[in-house]
Order: sequence, then structure tokens, then C-alpha cells
Amino acid sequence: MSDTPSRPAQTDADTGTPALTVEPAELEWRRDAEDREAPFSARYDDVYFSRHDGREESRFVFLAHNRLAERFGAWQSARPFVVGETGFGTGLNMLLAWACFTDNAPPSARLHLVSTEKHPMTREALARIWQSWPDLAPRAETLIAQWPDAVAGIHRLRLDPRVTLDLHIGDAAESLSALEGQVDAWFLDGFAPAKNPDMWHAGLFHAMASASHGETTFATFTCAGFVRRGLAEAGFSWRKVPGFGRKREMLCGSLASAPDDEARAATPWFTPPATRRAAHIAVIGAGIAGTSMAEALARRGSQVTLIDPKGIAGGASGNPQAALYVKLAAEPNRQSLFYLAALQHAHRWLSTLDPERTFWSDCGLLALAPHERENRRQRRFLDHYGLPPSVVAACNTADASRLAGIAVENDALHYGSAGWVDPGALCRRLADTPNVTLRQASLAGYHAHGDGWQLELSDGDLTVDQIVITAGPASAAWLDGLPLQPIRGQVSMLERDALPALNRVLCAEGYVLPPRHRTLTFGATFHPNDADTAVTEADHRRNLEELARTAPALAEALGDIDPASLDGRAAVRAASPDKTPYAGPLPMAAQWREDYAALAKDARRRFSTPGAHYPGVWVSAAHGSRGMVSAPLCAELIASRIHAEPLPLPRALVDHLHPGRRLIAELIRGQ
Ligand code: SAM
Repeated sequence: MSDTPSRPAQTDADTGTPALTVEPAELEWRRDAEDREAPFSARYDDVYFSRHDGREESRFVFLAHNRLAERFGAWQSARPFVVGETGFGTGLNMLLAWACFTDNAPPSARLHLVSTEKHPMTREALARIWQSWPDLAPRAETLIAQWPDAVAGIHRLRLDPRVTLDLHIGDAAESLSALEGQVDAWFLDGFAPAKNPDMWHAGLFHAMASASHGETTFATFTCAGFVRRGLAEAGFSWRKVPGFGRKREMLCGSLASAPDDEARAATPWFTPPATRRAAHIAVIGAGIAGTSMAEALARRGSQVTLIDPKGIAGGASGNPQAALYVKLAAEPNRQSLFYLAALQHAHRWLSTLDPERTFWSDCGLLALAPHERENRRQRRFLDHYGLPPSVVAACNTADASRLAGIAVENDALHYGSAGWVDPGALCRRLADTPNVTLRQASLAGYHAHGDGWQLELSDGDLTVDQIVITAGPASAAWLDGLPLQPIRGQVSMLERDALPALNRVLCAEGYVLPPRHRTLTFGATFHPNDADTAVTEADHRRNLEELARTAPALAEALGDIDPASLDGRAAVRAASPDKTPYAGPLPMAAQWREDYAALAKDARRRFSTPGAHYPGVWVSAAHGSRGMVSAPLCAELIASRIHAEPLPLPRALVDHLHPGRRLIAELIRGQ
């Protein structure tokens, strides 16, 4: 019998993702041997790192015993080297790994750090620690500048052009069980097993083994018997070696036998396609989905040809100003967890892209509750998600009015980092990335050509390794029958020398944005199955009526407005039937219907056949009216998959975005 505590990694039963509640670190401040401030965990009654030369110990245990300097120096692979860690803590180990990579890796190499943290510190605590370590301080500053709010899930930080950190806020075993990606070297850290028995259990070791390959190594400071046995049971071979300083022993080793891959036993159709050559990729459509896709691929070294007959942002991404906003379900579900992750990602991504905020603003957004039912829904939402007030806070009507800078008549939720973006300027900036070439042409068809694809374009042929379809409603022609609904929407623009102040985006049924360039933008109408892009006076009238309901004081201050005097823009967005974007590989629909036909009779039937996909063809579409938020994270997801990196979303959400979900849902419903 094994004495390894056996506790399978838990995930939330409804969403299949790690639990949402986050309890922050509880710190006491002590002094280390050199009289620097050192954090101490009151919760675990343990130190974050040794009082005596914590940095040298970290280098010795984790870096040296994973042979990182040597492996970084020899890294020639196109994919990044991946380091995984349990217990991010202060970030000391990861900062040292980053420094070691910079010192040793060839210029072509990339590093991807994956770390888990159940009780994140605040930005202030990190700053307090790192100010007394001058050589690590510049790297720590980069980390602190992007440090996420304490929200469960994966937060992707771009530490430098070659180094990415995915911080998984949540329990280590839960997070690593949901990880889509493979790790090359593990830092098995965490407070001492005796002080933190809840972390060191069989579920954790199995999750680590499932995310490992034949060359994966690990190192840990502990030598506890149940850790040795747990690692061995999970498939790791280990050696006892002398520990650091006065510590007698520690463990290091590697994966000896890979465990059965059970992650997709119930959903083999979502098995990812094998990695392929990605030197040259065609992106079809140059709106926010296409330009963010192009940037994400080019940043990783692919040559990208961005193809659109209308040029950059000619479709729905061409509105002058768009809200950065999502509406989240009161009870967490996979869709709302995706949008919550996407909103936080968009904020960090835009902050890196345009720190001066020349084409976007995180002014904040008030989601008004125009009636009691919405008020109750908002309160349920706050209870269920437990988000920090910096992400979403409840405000009464008086507070909402104060924040808006104009009287509103409702209570509201305040999304502190939401705001607006100028989509055209953003798309142009993205298309301007080195290695991205715009080709103003339309796609007539494509066919297999060697290991890649030949595209028939209106101005000639083009041969590429892979294709990503990001053409909004026009994607329908290329999705092998996946349903895509066109939705017409018109925004209205009022230009005036003097406009009333409005400091926040206001949203109810409609929205109104803070004035920009002497123009007030509000809208938008919503007409499913209408693909007409003519601006109509009737839609202006609807937008004016909605404005009067959303912000009566603002409407009153504007006075009577003749709808005919307004400027406007109408565009067509595309939506999937379940209103979640399609982001992933393109399934071969007929093959899926044949391979999984038995689902029509038995929805629990198990299959061993992985999903058949058009090799090297991907989709990022059906972003509806939330593309400014959803498209950048979908681009990051697809680019990470194409370039064999860990994914920025947990497996359940990756599957939720998979375009093939529709086919499975239809088969199960017997359609
Ligand atoms: N690696 C850290 C560094 O470089 O500063 C030090 C890690 S500290 C000794 C242990 C960390 O593990 C703490 O930040 C703690 O909150 C975290 N932790 C404890 N239990 C955890 C769990 N079950 N899952 C994830 N993190 C956990």
C-alpha cells in the first residue's frame, strides 16, 4: 500500500476549471541574515526562501539540478524551453531562471515559465521584497508592472520579447491537471511538506508527470519519503544528492515512464493536431481577429501574409471607438470564465502594446442595472465570482454618478480596467509588426500543396505552411459548414465642439463612450440575420432612444438631436449559435460525423479516434460584438498551439472554444 496522500486534483464540477476563490498570502515581515526585509508566511508558518543566501540556495537546488545553464546554452528548438513550478511565491526562482536564460541561451531561443500560486502576494509586497535586491530589481520591476489582480486562472505576462510567464493562480495540482502543454524542467517548490501537506500529494505528482516528456527533469529541496514514493509512482526516477549548505539531502531526477494520457479519454475529438512547420502562415481577414493573430504569430518568428480585400479593419473592426467590455453570466460557466480571462488579458496586452494609451483607455466601465432583476443578477454575480474590487466592484447610484462624472439613475457594477479602444488604430499597429505583410486581395479557394496549402487569391497564387481563417462573417465560406450567424449593428456618432463630460463607459442595453476627438459615440443596434451595411436613420433613432434610457442626464444635456444630423457606421459581426467564439483547429466535419456517429444513440459512448482536422488550418471567428476583448486571447491561444507552447487557458476552456464542439453538440442532439 502506498502512503502517498492520495487526493485527485479537484476542479470545479460545472466548469471543469480550477476553483474561483482566491485567498491572498498572509505575510509577516522579518529580516534575513543580511538585514534585508524577508517575507514569512503566517498561514504556513514557513519562510519563502532561506534567511541565509536564499538566492544561492535557489540556484543550487532548482537551476543547477535541472542543469539549466547547460540546457539553455544548447537549446536550438523552435519551441520555447518550458520551466514549470509549484509555488511562485516571491518569484525568486523564476527571476533567477530568466537571468540564467539571458546569460546562456542563444539569441534564437525562447523561454516559457509556467508557475502556480494558490495565495498570491500583492504588488506592494513584491515591490517591498525586490527593492533590496539591486541585481534582480529591474527584472522584478517588469514582473510587478504586469502583476495580475488576484483572480483564479492563467495570467500570461510578457517579461521580455523572448520570455513569457504564465502565472496560474490556483492550487498547483488543480492548475497543472488543467495545463495544456509540456514542461522540460520542474521546480518542485512549496512550503516544506510537513507544513503544507495539502500540496504534496499524488494528484500533484501525476499532474506533473502528465505534463512531462521523456527528457523532463525535476528538482526539489525536500527528501521526504512520501514525496520520493509519490514521484516514483507517478513515473519519475529520483536520486538523493547533497543539499545546499548545511542541508543534508535533496532530490532530483527525470521522468522515467510516461503515464497514460487520460486528459482526453472522454473527449478524444479535442486531441490537438500534431505540430507542423510554421515558417509562413496566411491569415485571412484583417480585422481585430486577423491582425491580433498576425502579430501573435509574427512575434514568434512566423512570416505572415495578412489577406483582406478591404485592407486593415475594413469590416466590423472599423468603428472609430469600441467598448472593451464583457457581460458575464451570474453563475460562472465556461463561456463567462473565458470572457473574464479575455478581459484581463486584453488589458495587459494593450498596456504592453500601447503603454501611453494613445489608441485605448482603461477609464473604467459602469454596467448599469436598469431594473431590479438586473440588480439581483449583479449581486448574485458578485457572490459567485468573489472578484477583487479592482476588477469588479458594486456601486450605488450616487457612487456610479460620481465615477461617471454625470448623474446616472441606477446602481451598477464598476469594471475598473475596462474602457474603450480605437479599433482601426489598434489593427493598424498590429499589422505594422515586422514579418507581417498585407495583401489586399480576396481568397477564392485553397488546396493542399505538399505539406502546406496553395491559396488562390484575386491577384495570384500564394503557397504557405498554414492558414488561419479570421474573416468575421466572410469566414462562413471556409468553415466546412460550421454555423455562423451575421448580425448587423450600427453605431451613432455626434460631433460637437462642446460635449458634456463623461468619465466612464456606460452600458445597459446600449452603451455610450467617453467623448473623443469632439465626438460622442453610442450604440449599437443589434439585428441578427441582417447583413446590410447601409447606415439608416431608423437605427440612429433607436440609438438615441437607448441613450436616453441609459444616461438620461447626458441625453438631456445634449438637447434635441435630429437623427439625420448624426454620423454613423453599420457593420456585420458574426456569432456562433452558443455565442462563444470559434478558436482552434478546423475539424473535417464529414469525418467527425462518421467517426462519432454513435453519439446520437449514446452520448456517453467512449471513442479512441482523435478528431480529424484540416492539417494546418485554424479558425478565430464568431467574436460577435466582443471581438476587441476575445480576439487577442484567441490569437494567443492559436499561436501558442501552432508554436508548441503551453496554452494560456485551462484545458476545459480550450475545449470550450474548439470549433468542433458544435459538431459534437449536434451529434448528441441527434441532428
Ligand atoms: N518559489 C518561491 C520563490 O521563488 O519565491 C518560493 C515558494 S514558497 C516556499 C511556497 C509558495 O507555494 C507560497 O507562495 C505558497 O503560497 C504557495 N503554495 C502553497 N500551497 C500551494 C498550493 N497548493 N498550490 C500552489 N501554490 C501553493
